[in-house]
Amino acid sequence: MTGPTRRQTLAMAGSAGLLAAPALSAGRAHVVVVGGGFGGTAAARTLKEIAPDTDVTLVVDADRFSTCPFSNLVLADEIPLSRITFGFDAVAAAGVSVRVGVAAEIDAARKVVVLQDGNEIGFDRAIVSPGIDLNFGAIPGYDAGAAQRMPHAWKAGVQTELLRDQIGAMPPGGTFVMSVPNNPYRCPPGPYERASLVAHRLSRINPTAKIIIVDGKDSFSKQSLFMEGWDRLYPGMITHVPFAENGGVKDVDAATLTVEAAFETFRGDVVNVIPPQTAAGVALRSGLAGDGDWCQIDQATFESETAPGVHVLGDAAIVGDMPKSGFSASVQGAVCAHVVASWLKGAEPVSDAVLLNTCYSLLSPDYGISVAGVYRVNAEGRLKSVRDAGGNSPMAADDGVRQAEAGFALSWYDTLTRQLFG
Ligand SMILES: Cc1cc2nc3c(=O)[nH]c(=O)nc-3n(C[C@H](O)[C@H](O)[C@H](O)COP(=O)(O)OP(=O)(O)OC[C@H]3O[C@@H](n4cnc5c(N)ncnc54)[C@H](O)[C@@H]3O)c2cc1C
Repeated sequence: MTGPTRRQTLAMAGSAGLLAAPALSAGRAHVVVVGGGFGGTAAARTLKEIAPDTDVTLVVDADRFSTCPFSNLVLADEIPLSRITFGFDAVAAAGVSVRVGVAAEIDAARKVVVLQDGNEIGFDRAIVSPGIDLNFGAIPGYDAGAAQRMPHAWKAGVQTELLRDQIGAMPPGGTFVMSVPNNPYRCPPGPYERASLVAHRLSRINPTAKIIIVDGKDSFSKQSLFMEGWDRLYPGMITHVPFAENGGVKDVDAATLTVEAAFETFRGDVVNVIPPQTAAGVALRSGLAGDGDWCQIDQATFESETAPGVHVLGDAAIVGDMPKSGFSASVQGAVCAHVVASWLKGAEPVSDAVLLNTCYSLLSPDYGISVAGVYRVNAEGRLKSVRDAGGNSPMAADDGVRQAEAGFALSWYDTLTRQLFG
């Protein structure tokens, strides 16, 4: 009889909340990474690859991770949630100890991560990429209960499937209302990609339906490209109501599916409230955001300004000019791993790293647009956009260009998720 496979070992360890291979070794440096999404998984895998003598533990709050990127295609009913859901077997197989458990606090003074179950994991350095929390309470009437009637679907998983099913059940000629926060929030172009892909679905199953975007700001990422595409693909279906015209959302009512803004009331048959956000709770509880909503860091090393020895990246942090995207978080994770590996060796990290981001958005499964940016730390230690590098897709491009960009989006997604989870 043979013993359990690594997959079975991980599954067993996960259900028991135990450490999945390999065991820690005395005398070796130990780095604990909190959050098994884009930033954390990139950091853990890169660090193990470039510093194999370092013990790396990745704390994940569930044994599977569903990505927000491409979740709008789930809403469009083009792909199932399983297409964007990944486990951690390959991460463990790469030598990272995967620990399933919720981090309650990162205690920088004692150098331990305290888990919700009371266990503690000691570290020499910690890397924290726990993403966002929804700021329930920022909009009166919107809480976890209301989110069952008015899903946010801004963390992928059950909320995505809930909103997908509501869209499918919308009455003929019904209205889909989306409330969008002011910056900063996770994925600046995400709401507008969502409006596009919901329109793609509705134009097939419910062609007289309408989409109203109640925006907390007056302009948005790739706006001209989105609006050009909406005129072309979904004429008359999507209305964008900027902040200047709605005056800001004052409250919502889940019972009547109403969004009350200062100048107008919007009633929907399906209402998607994307509330303001903060760094995930564990970062706030650990004091990594000071008195604010987002973590402040040294933008060259990602080391927390409030907690020495703790690095924070991804959506939870303000990382110079970089937008809150999965692409950004994965690049930051890799760069941060190099910084940590250097410091563990007693060496100075490379200080002139160039970081990249590209945010692709789909307006339909074969119509893609993008914005790309290049970022470098300047003499004042700020991670700034490099002028004249990057940029948007061209306006008035033909179908072939849009189709090619949709293909690039899919290639980016499949390549990155294979690197992280495959
Ligand atoms: C609709 C939508 C579409 C998007 N599309 C794109 C796109 O096309 N391209 C792109 O680049 N980005 C996109 N994004 C943005 C992208 O999802 C985020 O920027 C990215 O996930 C940030 O990575 P992260 O590591 O900071 O957080 P995450 O990827 O969210 O990872 C954080 C992980 O840590 C876990 N965690 C939180 N607290 C704890 C705790 N206490 N203990 C243990 N684990 C914890 C979380 O549950 C999560 O699994 C999109 C976002 C949305 C909402």
